[in-house]
Amino acid sequence: MADVNVISHPLVQHKLTQMRRKDTSTANFRALLEEISMLLAYEVTRDSPVATQKIETPFEAMEAPVLEGKKLVIISILRAGNGILDGMLKILPSARVGHIGLYRDPKTLIAVEYYFKVPGDLSDRDVIIVDPMLATGNSAIAAIGRVKQYNPRSIKFVCLLAAPEGIENFRKYHPDVAIYTGAVDRGLDSHGYIRPGIGDAGDRLFGTK
Ligand code: URA
Repeated sequence: MADVNVISHPLVQHKLTQMRRKDTSTANFRALLEEISMLLAYEVTRDSPVATQKIETPFEAMEAPVLEGKKLVIISILRAGNGILDGMLKILPSARVGHIGLYRDPKTLIAVEYYFKVPGDLSDRDVIIVDPMLATGNSAIAAIGRVKQYNPRSIKFVCLLAAPEGIENFRKYHPDVAIYTGAVDRGLDSHGYIRPGIGDAGDRLFGTK
């Protein structure tokens, strides 16, 4: 079964509350998402493989640990995933990047792909797929299904908020993929929005409403 890791760190929870407030401006929402994403990057890379490198300190040579940063690929589910991507790249500047464009059909809520570009060889890479909202789970399920076609070494999924219905759906298709989220909210409304939620993440991030 897919693990669900709720990142209960007080800094994440405080920033998430600021993002939930309806009066938070676009500029603040964007800045908060970037800050939270740096903290999520810290948690999701906790068990990342490290290699050692011979370096010289001012006093002597030593074998020192380094992250296998180039092995990491962050894949953003467009468009709101880019808010998390920007923050994660601050912490993981050597990571490679992919984008998957999916929109939710407003009637069926099914994810429809319109763009797919990921780094060439994923077979020896660890992939982190990011999207702020795990609502119905349909976008995450479709994105992970596509990425699995390239046989990456591992896949993790990072979001800001998840709905119980989305987690249940996700687990049916991808029980092998761990979920990292800031919170699990009450549930979905009839339009597929997470309640109490943060509203439409893309609109709030880009100021499109
Ligand atoms: N997408 C959003 O942006 N918000 C939700 O609550 C659900 C899906």
